[in-house]
Amino acid sequence: MIRPEIADLGAYTLKQVEHRIKLNQNENPFELPASVKQDVLDRLARASWSRYPAFVPAEESRRVAVHCGWKPEGTLLGNGSNDLLQLLFMSALERGKTCVISQPTFTLYKILARGLAASVVEVPMTPDFRFDVDRIIEQARKHAAATVVLCSPNNPTGTLLAREDVEAVVQHTDALVVLDEAYVQFAPESLITLLERHDRLVVLQTFSKAMGAAGLRFGYACCQPSLASNLNKLKLPYSINIFTLLAVGVLIDHWPVLKGWIDTIVRERGRVEAALAGMPAVKVYPSGANFLLFESLARTPAEVFAAVLSKGILIRDVSGYPMLERGLRVSIGTPEENTEFIEALREAV
Ligand code: PMP
Repeated sequence: MIRPEIADLGAYTLKQVEHRIKLNQNENPFELPASVKQDVLDRLARASWSRYPAFVPAEESRRVAVHCGWKPEGTLLGNGSNDLLQLLFMSALERGKTCVISQPTFTLYKILARGLAASVVEVPMTPDFRFDVDRIIEQARKHAAATVVLCSPNNPTGTLLAREDVEAVVQHTDALVVLDEAYVQFAPESLITLLERHDRLVVLQTFSKAMGAAGLRFGYACCQPSLASNLNKLKLPYSINIFTLLAVGVLIDHWPVLKGWIDTIVRERGRVEAALAGMPAVKVYPSGANFLLFESLARTPAEVFAAVLSKGILIRDVSGYPMLERGLRVSIGTPEENTEFIEALREAV
C-alpha cells in the first residue's frame, strides 16, 4: 500500500517530556503582548468564518513582500515554511533525481526528499562546522543535482553562509538552490537580495522563530515571479486559514516594536556562549541563530541532557545527527531562563 521508500523512512519525531523551561525547539521565548493578540481576536470576530479565505491572498502577500524586501509576485505564502519546502521538493524531485544537502542540518530535508524517492547526497561540513562549499558544488555537478538545500544560519550548528558561497553554488550548478533562512533575523544579514540576479534560487523564511509565532504556522518562499507561478500550480488552495492570515498583518504592523526581541536574544546568545566557553568540559560553537551547538567533552550527551532536565530544563540532544556524537543544542531563552540553564549545565558536565 505504501511506497517502499516511505516504509523505510525514519520518522521526524520529538518526544514530549515534562519540563519547566523549554529550550529545545528554537522558539522565541517572548510571548506576544496581550494587546497584539486581542487585536487579532477582534479582527477574527468580525471576519466571516463560513467563507473560504481569498483565493489569492494578495494583500497579505504584498505586506509580507514589503516586510522581507521582495516582490509580491515572487512571494508564496505557506502553512509554515515546511509546507513550502515540501512544495519545492514535489516540484523538483522524483525518483532518479538528486538532492544535495550539507550535514549536519535540519532533518526534514532528507526525509522529504527520500519520501519522494529522490537520491540524497550528503556533504559533510568541515570538522569545525563550516560549509564545504567546493564539495557541495562538486557533488551537485557530479550527480547533476535537481536541488541543493542550504540552511543559513544552519540548524543545528548555527553556521552562516557567505553571500559569495551561495552565489557560487547557484552559478556553478544547474540545480534549484533552496536557501532556508528560518533563523536569519538573528544573523547579520539576509541574502534575499541575491534573488534579483538569480532565477534558480528560492529563499525560505518563517514567522516561527524571530517573529514569535510558531503556533500560527506561517512561512513564505521568495523567488523570481516566473518560478513562483510554476510552483503555485501545485500549491494547495486555502492552505493558510483566516486566523493566520489576519495575524500576519497584525504582526507586521507591530514588528517595529516587537523586533526589540532580537537584540535581547542576540545579546543573551553572547552571554550564554561566553559562559559555556568558560566551562572546561564544554566546547561551544559560534552561532548566527537563536541557539547554540555545544559538545560535552566528558559526560555523554544523554547524561548531560538528563542532568539538565532534572532541573526542569529541556534542551536538545543532537548526538544522533551526523558528526555530532557529543552534541547538544540549546535555544536562547529569556535572560532568567538562560541563567538557570548555565547553572544547570555547569553542574551537569
Ligand atoms: N527550517 C529550519 C532550518 C528549521 O529549523 C525549522 C524549524 N525547526 C523550519 C524550517 C520549520 O519552520 P516552520 O515552522 O516555518 O515550518
